[in-house]
Amino acid sequence: MAGAGHRARTVTGRLPRHRSLAGPARFAARWRELAACRGTDLEVFFPGRGESAGPARQVCAACPVRQPCLDYAISNRISHGIWGGLTERERRALQSRWVRTSRRDRDRAILAAEATGYTAEAIGRSFGLSRTSVTRVVARADRRRS
Ligand code: SF4
Repeated sequence: MAGAGHRARTVTGRLPRHRSLAGPARFAARWRELAACRGTDLEVFFPGRGESAGPARQVCAACPVRQPCLDYAISNRISHGIWGGLTERERRALQSRWVRTSRRDRDRAILAAEATGYTAEAIGRSFGLSRTSVTRVVARADRRRS
C-alpha cells in the first residue's frame, strides 16, 4: 500500500499558508497521486450507518497527504465519507473554525486594501463581494476601534 511506513501526522483545521502560489498549485495537482487510498477499496471510506470508520482511518493514518486531503474536503464542504482520517461529524467541528479563520483573514485583507486607498467597488471585485458587504466589513472594524 502506498504510504506504508509513513508516520501518522496530526491534522488541523488551520488554513494553509504559503509564500507563493506556484508550489502549492503544483502540490495541489499532485496530492491525489500520493494518496495512500489510491488503488484501495474506496467503499471503506464511505461507511454506512453503524459501520466502523476504523479501516479507513487506518489507511489515512499512514497517508503522507492527510492534511491536503482534509483541507480539500473542508474547503469544498464535502459532507460524505472519511477525508484526512476524519468523519463527517469531526470535519463539521473543524469547518466552523475554518470558516471563522477564513473570514477573519479575508476581512483583514479588505481592511488593508481599504487603508491603502482602494475603493469599496474595487475591493469587492477582488473578493467577489458586493460594495455593501465591503462597506459593512469596514464599518464593523471602525466600530470596534471606537
Ligand atoms: S488522508 Fe485522504 S488521501 Fe490519504 S488515505 Fe485518507 S482519504 Fe485517502
